[in-house]
Amino acid sequence: MVWLKNLRTRAEAPRYLQYSLSITVPLTPRLNLYDLSREDLRLLLVRWGFSGTHTERLWNYLYLQLAESFDAMPLVPAKLRARLGTETFLGSLPIAVETDSSDGFTRKYLLQLNDDRRIETVLMRFTGRVTACISSQVGCAMGCVFCATGQMGYTRHLTPGEIVAQAVHVARALRTQPQLENAELVMPTSAPRLRNVVLMGMGEPLHNYDAVMKAIDILRDPNGLGLAAERITLSTVGVVPGILRLAQEKRPLHLAVSLHAANQAERAALVPAAKKWPLDELMAACRFYSEQTQRRIFYEWTLIEGKNDSPAHARAVGELLRGLPAQVNLIPLNPTEGFDGVPTRTDAARQFQRILADEFALPSTVRQRRGIDIAAGCGQLAIAG
Ligand code: SAH
Ligand code: SF4
Repeated sequence: MVWLKNLRTRAEAPRYLQYSLSITVPLTPRLNLYDLSREDLRLLLVRWGFSGTHTERLWNYLYLQLAESFDAMPLVPAKLRARLGTETFLGSLPIAVETDSSDGFTRKYLLQLNDDRRIETVLMRFTGRVTACISSQVGCAMGCVFCATGQMGYTRHLTPGEIVAQAVHVARALRTQPQLENAELVMPTSAPRLRNVVLMGMGEPLHNYDAVMKAIDILRDPNGLGLAAERITLSTVGVVPGILRLAQEKRPLHLAVSLHAANQAERAALVPAAKKWPLDELMAACRFYSEQTQRRIFYEWTLIEGKNDSPAHARAVGELLRGLPAQVNLIPLNPTEGFDGVPTRTDAARQFQRILADEFALPSTVRQRRGIDIAAGCGQLAIAG
């Protein structure tokens, strides 16, 4: 029954235990410390009658030392540690499975949640930089036809703490396995640090807006992991209300919008969410976002041979984005079980790029293929069963 100590609510216990727990053990919900901002933590300590000054030390243990238990926090007073031990838990996510890609550039972690569900987090090494690709939901409700997460359907949102814990997990991996870090060291003597996070794992981050934004605030806390806003990229399928809210709140992060097609009919066939948020509304929201934030948007385009990769398609995207601050990120299709499309060949992808550059002065990149053999590439994240 060790796992019981991690239950936050009675409802998380198996049904047969919920009844007996309600009579025998009055379960108080336990707080996941990774759910708390530094200010939340300070208020909690003050409410418990401790000095708020312990907050900084505790925060340091959580996000700079990446402590894995309360025992690893010797400078926190014993009384406070005892209280933390009974009323909170450290929501680290145990590894269920860990896989390295054969090219050595990608490591995929299958991480275990408190309710036994699993999510995937990927550590990627592109040239000169390490990036954590983190999930925002278990599964996804958006149903994009070529995406393995979409094919598995939606199970639930992740909590802020479960999102934060994925970044903490990768930060720990970098610290204990510095060979993963490569060229990222600014000073050769400094400890390797996580600097780049992309919300491009499982799920649609703007469908889980509040939890994702809270997690980003925690990741950006300058006294903790201290991720710079320009190193955080959130990718959305095009949830229009979420983009408008991001624009109004002027959230400091990079926005990527998954486009894949430049007209409504073709887009809706690939991305069912386009029926709810049509292309013209999406583009209006993107324009508003760029005006409000003065930021350019990355537009993602999964290249599927014979579907959306012709010169005419390149010109259509050029026309669509004309006048907008934009960069196009081309992603050759990664294989998934439920979709029989084929990735665009390199020469056709290059031609697509040339048209964008020469005819529309539109910068673009072709995403490096990483982790395909371990199904850790874009859109390949899914949990069987
Ligand atoms: N839900 C968000 C973020 C996760 S998906 C979104 O859709 O933007 C991250 C990126 O991978 C998206 O651009 C998505 O369109 C792309 N993608 C999904 N399945 C893919 C596949 N099989 N091959 C290549 N890219 C894929
Ligand atoms: Fe969800 Fe993104 Fe996959 Fe579409 S591509 S199903 S939005 S995770």
